[in-house]
Amino acid sequence: MKIAVTNLGAIVSGDWRNPIAAGDTILTEGGSIVSVGTASAAAVEAADVVIDAGGMTAIPGLIDSHVHITFGDYTPRQRTVGYLESYLHGGVTTSISASEVHVPGRPRDVQGVKALAVAAQRCFASYRPGGMRVIAGSVILEPGLRKEDFVELAGAGVTLAKAGFGAVKTAYDYVPMVADAKAAGLITTCHTGGSSIPGSGAITGDHLLKMHPHVSFHINGGPTAMPDADFERVIKESTMALQVCTAGNLRTTLLCGRLAMQHGAFDRFIIATDTPTGSGIMPLGMLYTIAHLASLGDVAPELAVAAATGSNARVYRLNSGFLAPGKIADIVLVDAPDGGTQSDALSAMRHGDIAAVGAVVTRGEARFVGRSRNTPGTTRKIRVAQCNVPRDLTGARH
Ligand SMILES: [Zn+2]
Repeated sequence: MKIAVTNLGAIVSGDWRNPIAAGDTILTEGGSIVSVGTASAAAVEAADVVIDAGGMTAIPGLIDSHVHITFGDYTPRQRTVGYLESYLHGGVTTSISASEVHVPGRPRDVQGVKALAVAAQRCFASYRPGGMRVIAGSVILEPGLRKEDFVELAGAGVTLAKAGFGAVKTAYDYVPMVADAKAAGLITTCHTGGSSIPGSGAITGDHLLKMHPHVSFHINGGPTAMPDADFERVIKESTMALQVCTAGNLRTTLLCGRLAMQHGAFDRFIIATDTPTGSGIMPLGMLYTIAHLASLGDVAPELAVAAATGSNARVYRLNSGFLAPGKIADIVLVDAPDGGTQSDALSAMRHGDIAAVGAVVTRGEARFVGRSRNTPGTTRKIRVAQCNVPRDLTGARH
């Protein structure tokens, strides 16, 4: 399958250091992006599908690095099926599990947490709800896990480990486990802030700095924030990723964004939703946090998009998140929402409006073209200018 996306008004690269790419066309072949910028008429003609973006803006598919995955496209917390496919309509093309803690009756012993992580990883290895890539299988750190367990998990394909919900006496007990998980090559993550489930204690700056996981999960609070003074410490005294989540404290999201900019740490600043949780299912959560940062937080909208795409990809070692040749072809077309006051997607975000999604391509396949079933309609008209595959791409009709 070859796709050509033409007539783009702007291309947001996902790289915050160089956030806008020149040109108006993107070509994909197979699952990858082949070129970004310009293309010959012959190359466009040779595509199986040509999407005329009508002046809309292309951004990389959003990567939500904190989703409460269980099994299948089902959230036990909100007893709802199909939420991941719904997130795809909010521009999310990759979801990363925040560990499978919401599985009813989740195991708490060493063998159980290992089996859960491997099973979750396997169940999403080729299952893509609505076309979304799901990276699942994050081992929940429980006392008793040893070096060789992490080596075994890494060998089995598990890439993630999560501290914060284990039966430890204090959060300092995670320190050796995080070190062992890191040594085995896992990406380590840690709950931050007040406890979100009964029995787990608050995790603050001092715990994080001793543990030094790769990612401070919902550093703005999940949903309760750690002390304000700890933000600057974590930013200045560590290299961990600073994940801000929609289902957290908005004031500390903005505080963290400002401090990350001030201290030259924007590379580590990443956006996620931390949903579905008690706060609900939020298919547009990523778009809301982008708009909050761009309108209230002095973060340029194209940089907020980078924090939701390329920066997540870098932290989680994914070959997506950027509109650049060789990257996985996850592309979202966005626009100013119909009926608003702004003229394009980036100005809408800066204005505090969420962007309207007009099309989603994942791994080189158009999942829908027309309008998202969750965002407002787009201002501009998008159309499939050429289609040589037997498929209805206007999937927004249901
Ligand atoms: Zn969470």
